[in-house]
Amino acid sequence: MRLVLVGPPGAGKGTQAVRLAERLDVPHISTGDLFRANLSENTPLGLAAKQFMAAGELVSDEVTVGMVRERLAEDDAVKGFILDGFPRTVAQADALSELLEAAGNELNAVVALEVPADVLVARLLGRGRSDDTEDVIRRRQEVYREETAPLLEHYRDLLVTVDAVGEVEEITERVVRALGSD
Ligand code: ADP
Repeated sequence: MRLVLVGPPGAGKGTQAVRLAERLDVPHISTGDLFRANLSENTPLGLAAKQFMAAGELVSDEVTVGMVRERLAEDDAVKGFILDGFPRTVAQADALSELLEAAGNELNAVVALEVPADVLVARLLGRGRSDDTEDVIRRRQEVYREETAPLLEHYRDLLVTVDAVGEVEEITERVVRALGSD
């Protein structure tokens, strides 16, 4: 199963991606987690991403796509994956299509997690990550609306929309049911 999760910051992509990865037996690939791991190890990639992450801006497509290309080339991703936080722009989506096509693969579905805006801010402020200050949260949401929301239209033929308000377990079940993988 080759899956992309999309949704605004705070939609619960990370939480659901971990659970879905287990259910579907494929690796969870989070570009946010990969960037944070690089940052904490002070790698060149981490340094390249640092100021963008701290400001809630997107890291360049070039850096991000390069990182994803390497991750998807690892053995465990051959059987499939759940991408969380990537693609975040239409250009990244096009780059992903090319990567998959070169290997004779394609996406099975794009899952959109739907959550009303007021619930999102409350969730993010409760999370306490270092880039979860109010200004940075607001900027990440603007970036989502401008850069990432167009993906919903871009992926309309693959899109599976799931109501992501409720218990964590219930939302996972909704996704699994919507994918027809139960
Ligand atoms: P959230 O789910 O709260 O939006 P993430 O953990 O997915 O946060 O991402 C944190 C930061 O990492 C983003 O604000 C951005 O700076 C960077 N980042 C993550 N994924 C991408 C991507 N696909 N393209 C560009 N930057 C990214």
